[in-house]
Amino acid sequence: MPHAHPPPADHDSHGLAADWRRSLADAGPEAARVLAALAATDAPAMAVHFYQVMMDDTRASRLLSHEQVRTRLQPAMQRWVANLLRATAGDVDDLIAAQRVIGDVHARVGIPVDLVTRGTRVLKQRLFQSIAAQAGHGQAAHAAVASLTASFDIALEGMTLAYSNARERSSRTDAAYRLFSLVQNVGTERERQRALLLDWENTLLYALASQCDPVGFQSLAGSEFGLWFTHKGIPSFGESAETRRICDLVADVDLALQQTLREEADPRARAAQLQDIRARVSQIRNLLGMLFERIGELDAGCDALTNLLNRRFLPTVLRREIDLAAKSQGSFAVLLLDLDHFKAINDEHGHEAGDRALQHVAGILGQFTRGSDYVFRYGGEEFVVVLVAVDEAQALVIADSLCRRVSESPVTLANGAKLDITTSIGVALHDGHPDYERVMARADAAMYQAKKRGRNRVVLADGSLPEAPGRIALQRG
Ligand code: GH3
Ligand code: MG
Ligand code: MG
Repeated sequence: MPHAHPPPADHDSHGLAADWRRSLADAGPEAARVLAALAATDAPAMAVHFYQVMMDDTRASRLLSHEQVRTRLQPAMQRWVANLLRATAGDVDDLIAAQRVIGDVHARVGIPVDLVTRGTRVLKQRLFQSIAAQAGHGQAAHAAVASLTASFDIALEGMTLAYSNARERSSRTDAAYRLFSLVQNVGTERERQRALLLDWENTLLYALASQCDPVGFQSLAGSEFGLWFTHKGIPSFGESAETRRICDLVADVDLALQQTLREEADPRARAAQLQDIRARVSQIRNLLGMLFERIGELDAGCDALTNLLNRRFLPTVLRREIDLAAKSQGSFAVLLLDLDHFKAINDEHGHEAGDRALQHVAGILGQFTRGSDYVFRYGGEEFVVVLVAVDEAQALVIADSLCRRVSESPVTLANGAKLDITTSIGVALHDGHPDYERVMARADAAMYQAKKRGRNRVVLADGSLPEAPGRIALQRG
């Protein structure tokens, strides 16, 4: 339910609405006619111009594709401009609500504020020119300029208000998330990661001793330890000199593996290289020990029943994964699971049996995903799994296997009876869109399809799924 928690209304927007209505009333009917005429003639060109200016800035062009701009953003901008130009006193509340939504999207995506103010500045300049060309410099033109200026400024203010509130909320959760740390059980996790690192090293030694070609050898960055460190270690520990040092060491080790070992046939030189790699791995191990030491035991922030991650950390995780995917040209997948006919389980076997079933499924999800993945309790009987660094085929294999494992391992009830459960899973691959709510909405729509097609199955979100999530549409309709 990505839209289940709309942003709280900002008190300050009441003042904005009153200002906006007053400025529209002051402008008078003649100015309103001038602006409405501009809405009809100028809005399309305005939208094109706006995105030309935006895409010149690398911060925008990194976030947006030309395809997105052409198919979705330009038409939306055209509507935005036209709506402001045609605004009447009766539209003001809706307009302010719309600016709030835009501000929230900007906050989620991380659009820099100065880009937004630059965009509106550029639009205003163009519109002033058009007003002069069409209405001259008389009183109506002057009133139109004043009204237009007020509308744009108030819209921008509404947007910024929502933006800064949302940023503040999210930076608070980001901080809480780091404090709580994703490493839910520090002691176990430390041992696990130490063992994984050792495994990797031993496998390398073995490969070399048995004269295997190390060229095809798993890189340290791509190993289970490496994935865990990038996706979970760094956000849990918080970025520091030590985490950066580990990243450098991992990169050094992989470079040595790839280049030197491949080219170096002489056994003595190889042995020396190997010593070097092992020295670096040992440094990584020491640094890791220090980092674990520092974070200590912190285990708030988990769901009490299932011990899974609390959904309030989902935005933090998804924002970070979207960022990592953009930097590494990689991808990740969101699995949204909803247990089938769960109400009936509660009704027939009691709430306690239901709770047991939830813990049972949580256990399966934790057990059959990698340490670098994330498992959240998303709602009552809903779970979200974020699979890091996967492509579509890998995500589907994992989703299918989770679906099968749930259906094949019945819950043991307090009286020893066995209870079969199944789950419906929607899978969405990150499609490059910078707003995490989109990947959630796609997973949600796919999950809804899985229900519709008979439950106990996996459905992959594809382009043909409606953008408005099915379940949400139903709830609202
Ligand atoms: P569907 O296959 O369409 O998902 O059917 P459903 O019955 O699972 O669907 P619905 O979402 O309507 O019901 C979810 C039920 O899950 C409602 C509630 O009784 C139960 N539930 C939610 N949270 C908990 C919980 O923490 N413990 C228990 N025992 N039950 C819960
Ligand atoms: Mg449900
Ligand atoms: Mg259900």
